Amino acid sequence: MKIIKPLALKMSIFAGHLQLMQLIESIHGLKEKLAFYKKNGKIGFVPTMGALHKGHLSLVNRCAEENQCSVVSIYVNPTQFNDKNDLNRYPRNLELDLGLLANCNCDFVFAPGDDEMYPVPDMRKFNFGLLETVMEGKFRPGHFNGVAQIVSKLFDAVQPDRAYFGLKDFQQLAVIKKMAIDYNYPVEIVPCDIVREADGLAMSSRNALLEPEKRNAAPFIYNSLLFASELSKTKSPGEIKQEINMLYQKNTELELEYFEIVDNNSLLPVEHFGNKNLCTACIAVFAGKIRLIDNIQFNS
Ligand code: AMP
Repeated sequence: MKIIKPLALKMSIFAGHLQLMQLIESIHGLKEKLAFYKKNGKIGFVPTMGALHKGHLSLVNRCAEENQCSVVSIYVNPTQFNDKNDLNRYPRNLELDLGLLANCNCDFVFAPGDDEMYPVPDMRKFNFGLLETVMEGKFRPGHFNGVAQIVSKLFDAVQPDRAYFGLKDFQQLAVIKKMAIDYNYPVEIVPCDIVREADGLAMSSRNALLEPEKRNAAPFIYNSLLFASELSKTKSPGEIKQEINMLYQKNTELELEYFEIVDNNSLLPVEHFGNKNLCTACIAVFAGKIRLIDNIQFNS
């Protein structure tokens, strides 16, 4: 366990404890530190892969506001990457991240190495049924199994009362909710709104990897979702899918991987509007080599 002296801007007093933001690298060290808070208050947890931006920080700020102790993990989890190149080029900058977190009332940063999280290969296979066979599950085989492996290990280490996840990763949120129920984790899963750049592009650690012309083209993704939402007032899901596909056929900078309109609970494709269930239009787009996802919710 290290104390980040230059970055330890955060000081809070809880139950007589003077708290500086602390960086912890071992599960044992984390459990030791959190034992006091487990007995005396609520622990909030934000799992991340680092390269933090305002989207992540919105989760951290909310977590710090709603709990006596806030824990943020920073770990680029290899088992959720189905593409080795994506894993290798994933941005990493712990020092910068720590500076940002010290300004958001974070208490503990858990940044373990691979040996700490996977001392032996994790052979567990989770089954989320249909949730993992559509959209991200279909195009990134094994992705959600890797997500469940790491999030379950992190939940075991942190034992949070509340865990904060962004709606940016809409399907991941559904998978985590199911995991918490199926495996009896006594944790409240808190969904948090998508934070966007001024031009509408959903914030993502991968945005920093975009070539300038792809970055200029990328706001088209959110605009196409807004257009889909507008169309949903007069057209069927099938007609909207067709229109969106046509839009991307004309776009030379972006390549559509999928566009689906799904029921918020089942994640099944919506065939007809009109039953007043909430549904979400989900999209995955390649901007060059960089894959971006986004979504928008509307009433069916
Ligand atoms: P990541 O580091 O990409 O694994 O993301 C960590 C958490 O931050 C996940 O729960 C994401 O859904 C959430 N997140 C990422 N980008 C955004 C965003 N633009 N707005 C809100 N939450 C986000």
